[in-house]
Amino acid sequence: MHILLSNDDGYLAEGLVSLAKALSQHAEISVVAPDRNRSAASNSLTLEMPLRVYDTDNGFIKVDGTPTDCVHLAITGLLEKEPDMVIAGINHGSNLGDDVLYSGTVAAATEGRFLGLPAIAISLVGMNPTHFDTAAEVAVILLKQIISNPLPKDTILNVNVPDVDILDIKGFKATRLGQRHKSEAVLKSEDPRGRTIYWVGPPGAEQDAGEGTDFYAVSNGYVSVTPLQVDLTNYKSINEISSWLPKIDCL
Ligand code: MN
Repeated sequence: MHILLSNDDGYLAEGLVSLAKALSQHAEISVVAPDRNRSAASNSLTLEMPLRVYDTDNGFIKVDGTPTDCVHLAITGLLEKEPDMVIAGINHGSNLGDDVLYSGTVAAATEGRFLGLPAIAISLVGMNPTHFDTAAEVAVILLKQIISNPLPKDTILNVNVPDVDILDIKGFKATRLGQRHKSEAVLKSEDPRGRTIYWVGPPGAEQDAGEGTDFYAVSNGYVSVTPLQVDLTNYKSINEISSWLPKIDCL
């Protein structure tokens, strides 16, 4: 099996290095990752600039683009041999609930899925998490499971791992995405030349974090595994908007 690894924290990130080390015991791996931290890059592709690719000392390939660029390039022509699967992470910090819309880690997995490959995004919970070995072992466990239980064609697994020793993990839970309150306010400040600058504020607190959610699983010591699909259609609302849309008169 040949696995493509990527991330959004950059090719030097400890999470990616740990993941590569653990998975290389079980599969052939290729690592194609951004040359710097591109967290929250979401599903962006670079279209107005060329992308440059460099081999690094540790055998990885770095790209001056987004996580989505990395996976796109890797699968559509950069790698000589097409991978069988994409694993993105281990992200430094959780990707829970609404975070998945912004996440470059989830985006890297999504790009793999778009291009026809099974894909997993894996994140280690916490502001400055340390137990990357736990998350790497979880990745190996899930890889083995997926080989015998293939994922449906449109499904990505979003995995969040509590930042504890593997022996303190209570188990695995299949979850749904929870929700956060709206983001905290933007932080206004001043640059050294007296000009106003803004920092995007922290994400909102958990709002829908009850039993069954990804938030609930990780806060109770379980690995959260949420199957994601890319179709964002709100099917329940099709009928509702159909009640007034056809009445619009375009003159
Ligand atoms: Mn990140």
